[in-house]
Formats: sequence, C-alpha cells, structure tokens
Amino acid sequence: PGTERAEGRVVDDEEGGVLFLCGSRYGHASIEKQRQRLPVFKYRTAILYLVETHATTVIVGETGSGKTTQIPQYLNEAGWAAGGRLIACTQPRRLAVQAVASRVAQEMGVQLGEQVGYTIRFEDVTNPDVTVLKFLTDGVLLREMMDDPLLTKYSVIMVDEAHERSISTDILLGLLKKIQRRRPELRLIISSATIEAKSMSNFFCMRKKRQEPENKEHGLQVEPAILSVEGRGFNVQINYAEEPVQDYVQAAVSTVLLIHEREPAGDILVFLTGQDDIDAAVQLLNDEIQNTGKHSSGLIVLPLYSGLPRAEQELVFSPAPRGKRKVVISTNIAETSLTLEGIVYVVDSGFSKQRFYNPISDIENLVVSPISKASARQRAGRAGRVRPGKCYRLYTEEYFLNHMSNEGIPEIQRSNMVSCVIQLKALGIDNILGFDWPASPSAEAMIRALEVLYSLGVLDDDARLTSPTGFQVAEIPLDPMVSKMIIASSQLGCSEEIITIAAVLSVQSIWISGRGIQKESDEAKLRFAAAEGDHITFLNVYKGFHQSGKSSQWCHKNYVNYHAMRKVVEVREQLKRIAKRIGLVLKSGENDMQVVRIAVTAGFFANACHLEAYSHNGMYKTLRGSQEVYIHPSSVLFRVNPKWVIYNSLVSTDRQYIRNVITIDPSWLLEAAPHFYQLQQSNHLLR
Ligand code: ADP
Ligand code: MG
Repeated sequence: PGTERAEGRVVDDEEGGVLFLCGSRYGHASIEKQRQRLPVFKYRTAILYLVETHATTVIVGETGSGKTTQIPQYLNEAGWAAGGRLIACTQPRRLAVQAVASRVAQEMGVQLGEQVGYTIRFEDVTNPDVTVLKFLTDGVLLREMMDDPLLTKYSVIMVDEAHERSISTDILLGLLKKIQRRRPELRLIISSATIEAKSMSNFFCMRKKRQEPENKEHGLQVEPAILSVEGRGFNVQINYAEEPVQDYVQAAVSTVLLIHEREPAGDILVFLTGQDDIDAAVQLLNDEIQNTGKHSSGLIVLPLYSGLPRAEQELVFSPAPRGKRKVVISTNIAETSLTLEGIVYVVDSGFSKQRFYNPISDIENLVVSPISKASARQRAGRAGRVRPGKCYRLYTEEYFLNHMSNEGIPEIQRSNMVSCVIQLKALGIDNILGFDWPASPSAEAMIRALEVLYSLGVLDDDARLTSPTGFQVAEIPLDPMVSKMIIASSQLGCSEEIITIAAVLSVQSIWISGRGIQKESDEAKLRFAAAEGDHITFLNVYKGFHQSGKSSQWCHKNYVNYHAMRKVVEVREQLKRIAKRIGLVLKSGENDMQVVRIAVTAGFFANACHLEAYSHNGMYKTLRGSQEVYIHPSSVLFRVNPKWVIYNSLVSTDRQYIRNVITIDPSWLLEAAPHFYQLQQSNHLLR
C-alpha cells in the first residue's frame, strides 16, 4: 500500500527485489511478507513438528534469522497457548527482552502488555488474563520458580541466546532438566546463534545417564532434536588494523569518519564495551560533526546500551531518513541479541565488558577484556545482513590468529556464586556441589559463597536457609548483600533510608557525566556531598528530588539524571511492597545517619577496606585478601580518604577502584560478622 511506501526505506534484498523497512506506521500485510522472508519461516512446519514430538528441541540459526521473534509466534499460532497456558521466551539481557517483546507485539498488531508481554526485574508488563507470549529474562524465570517450582503455567519454554552462557541461563538449564523429569509434557526449545548446540543437546540427553524409558504416555522422544536454520548472510570483507591500537575509542571514531567519507551508503555499527566509552565516542563524533560540518554532515549518531530510556532505544531500530547514515555505537548487545537492519559496516574494538571473579581475593569486577574469535565472527556477521559488507577490526590479524581465544568462558566459571547458591537453596536444592550444571563452577567459588552466606546469617551450620533471615533474603530480587542490608535496616529502624539507598544502587548512576561538563557536575555533586560518603549523599539527592516535586528541571540544574531518578522512585516502591510482604518494618531513622551506616555494614561487611598508614596516594587494602584498591574519582570521598570504608562495587581500569563508598567504625564489623573477621583480623581491627 502506498502509505507504507512513503514511510519505508527501500533496500535491495538478495532476490533483487525490495524489502521495506518500515518506520513507525506498519501495514499488516507488509509485516506478514516480512515475516515470511525470514530464513526461519521455511522451517516453520519442521519446528512445530519437532516441538510436538520431542521434549527438547535445540535450534541453531544465525543472528537475524528470526528465531526470537518468530518461533514464539509459530507456537502460539499452533495452539500451544490454548487453555490458559503460556509460552515463555527467555533472554539474558533486559534490553533485549523489552525490544523483542515490543517488536512481536507490533508484528501481531496488539498492544504490548496484552497478548504479548514482558517481565524484567522490577517491571512487569503482562496481563495475567490475556497474555499468551511472555518474554522475560532468565533471571526472572528463575525467580518465578520460587512460587511455582514446576513452572506449571508454561507449555513451552524457549531458552534463547543459549550460546551466551550467562550464569542465569546455565542455572535455568540445570533446573529445567530437573523439571522435565517431573513434567514430561513441558516442551523446551533451546536456541543459539552458534554451534555449541551439540554440547547443549548432550546436556539434555537424559537416557545416557539414567535408564529412563521413552516417555510412553506422552509419546515423546527424550533425545533432544537438533535443527539448524540455514542463514543467508552475505560476504563480509574483513579489514585489520596494521598496528596495535592504543586508544580504541579514538580509533573507532576515526574509522567511522573514514567510512563515512569514503564508502557508499549503509549504516555503521560500532562495538565498544559500556556506557562510559560509548558516551565518550558519541560525544567525540558529535563534536566532529559540529566542528567540521561538511564531511560529517549526514551522520546520525546513536548509543545502544542497557539502561537507555525507551525512546532512545527505539531510535536505534528506526531507519535513518533518506540521505542520512546511521551510526549505532553499542555494547555487545548488538552482537547476537538484537538485529539492526541496514547495517553494512561494522567497527569492532575487540573488547567487551566481562565479569571476572577471583575466589582467592573474593573480588568480582567488570573488566574490559578481549573478546573471543567466536564473538569477533558474530560481530563481523552483522555487516552482511542486507548486502555484502565490511568489518573493520581495531586489532591486528596476527592478534586475531594467535592471541584471541576460540570461545569465551561460561559466565558461571567467572562469577561470584553468592546469588546463585541462595537461589538454588531457596528452590530446595541442597546438594549444590552435586548439581547437574551445564558447566561446573569452581569449588573455591562455591566455598567462598557458602562462607559469605553463612556470615550473612543466611545459611546455618548445615548450609540450610535460616528462618526468617535466609528466606527473606532469598525473596528480595537483589544481591544478597543488599537484601541483608535491607533486613538489618528493618531491625535498626531505618528501612526507609536503606530502601532508597538500595534503589539508587540498582541503577547505573544517578549523576550526569560526560566530557566537557566534568567541572560543573563535580560542583553540583558538592551540594549534596555528605562527609559519611556516597550512600548518605544519595539520600540527600533523593530528598532534593522529592522536595522539587520530582522535577526534571531540578535534575537538569543539579546534573542529576532524571531518567535514573524516575527509575529509583519506581524500584523503591517495588522494594517497599516486597518488604511489607515479607514482614519487614518500614520506618525512617529520621536524621540518625549512624544507624544507616550500621545497616550498610550489616550487608557489606565483606567489602571493608583500610587506608594504608604509609600511603600518601590514597591506597587502601581490602580487609580480606589484602588487595590494593583506590577510591573512585566519582565518589564524594575521593581525596578525602577516611581511614575505614566499605564499598559497594569495584571497577578496574589502570587500578582497582572502589565505587559507592561509605565510612564506618571498624568495631561494627565485628558486630556484624564475628566469624567472618576471625581473631587474627580482629586484633588488627582493634589496633
Ligand atoms: P534472531 O533471534 O534469529 O537473531 P530476530 O527474531 O531477533 O532474529 O530478528 C528477525 C528479524 O526481525 C530481523 O530481520 C530484525 O531486523 C527484525 N527485528 C527484530 N527486532 C526488531 C525491532 N525491535 N524493530 C525492527 N525490526 C526488528
Ligand atoms: Mg534472537
């Protein structure tokens, strides 16, 4: 129809025909056509047949082939949601859950939150009466098991992006395998962008281990089926850096400008690692566009990372206006979770942010680390979606061939296991070391986790959840240290304040930062700064925001991130609801900030640090593990360097920096966790 032609942008597809990338207004007929053009469509009947006849189906298909958006719809069309049942599709990332659900709702021509809905932590956009397709994070599905251990609402569960091997995906797979024994009629689909399918299929091969008979009653094959969806990627020409790159942000920016100057039309996708380097690159590019004008006009620069406001997320998916070139600067979320149409050029920094945990020092942090060859190939593949493309790798060929690992390490083998252990315990899995994992976590990490949970008072001597603390901690969908802090605050009479702090800690940052406004934002921060540290500073900001009537102008004036503060208010409400449900007392400590700090210590005692006496450069040592750390420049305690502090998280760049820091009295540590800080250390504490 004519209106769609006017709205859409025309791109050649491989048959030499035209494919319409629609803007905001969709015609239903054209959507149907688009759906049928996706590679997965040819396999519709095969997929439905396999799901009908097999307990588990593993589906491998290149990114963009339609696995995530189409398969749940096929299942719905085939009647898997009849009779009040639900079809679930899990994703490791929240942003992907939202984006995919909204796309599917659009394709089905329904309001998001009705037939098609999604649930992520602290945000439930479903309607229990009408929702049939539910997209959710694997973490949320794990939480649902606490109320409904056999997930009886669901007829089919599709565990998507299994190749990512996120920690929650792995736990979920282990548990789903158990559920299948009890609920043979439950169908699982495991979908993945790479050929790790074989190991996934082996994992679900139940007959090998136990002599289980074929499931006669349901006539189902217990051996998993594997289906491979043929993609239709185009050739991608790979270009390497000639020499190692010093500054990948700068190099990415220069590469984008070069592509824009020299290459024909087509959008550019740049892979960086996180909000900080993405914001920096966006700003550098925008500066360049303003300064030089002529070369770079026609570039539209868009960031893509989780925590981005919805409106900005949607921009990324809409086609660039005619004559303009879109540059999307993304985390590895665009590697396989989301497909952007129209990308012809990819710039790959070779890095991503990854979680690393060291059980010896008991330190976990997000580190900018080299990606694997498998990831590099995925990234390059994004350039060949609509026509032959080009990928610019900001590293040398020698580096790619000789130094990049083949595959990444599953997250479960590089994570702190505290949250995982408590969730399994809450689900009644007592023998955690003997749990059937797709990839086993290290025994050291497991022991460390048990130790911390014991000190938090969550587990008893027999490693069972304590009552009520352990069960309460498990009910709160936050890191157990944060949950423990909330529970302690209820006893200490300052839960209103602590819940605010917990809500602030759950968002990335409440400050606006960026190149060029550093001085102003630092000055603004001083208006709220509390001598006790960042947590108390957060309370001051929240109070100011509240008193301003939650005004966006107030935020703007004070360099506070309005979007983040709205989220804080929302999370705070949810946490209050949960707190009430589990019987906590909601009370304000009024102006007593000492009691607030004691509550923080009750949760975060394991993160205590002591200023080195001889240190003139603000070096701290962690009490456990004696790691060298420094207060992060974003903290109000930066350069103040009080003697004893507790931190909330670590970031490592050139050094290990501690973020969100609060001063404490060391005697509180002994009170909070006598067995954690053993005698030798307590002598040190009292010295
Ligand atoms: P897969 O899961 O196999 O990687 P998807 O189902 O995510 O593939 O994507 C199939 C197609 O749907 C792609 O061509 C993609 O461009 C399109 N698509 C997915 N999400 C969106 C969205 N939010 N907006 C526009 N198009 C989308
Ligand atoms: Mg997908």
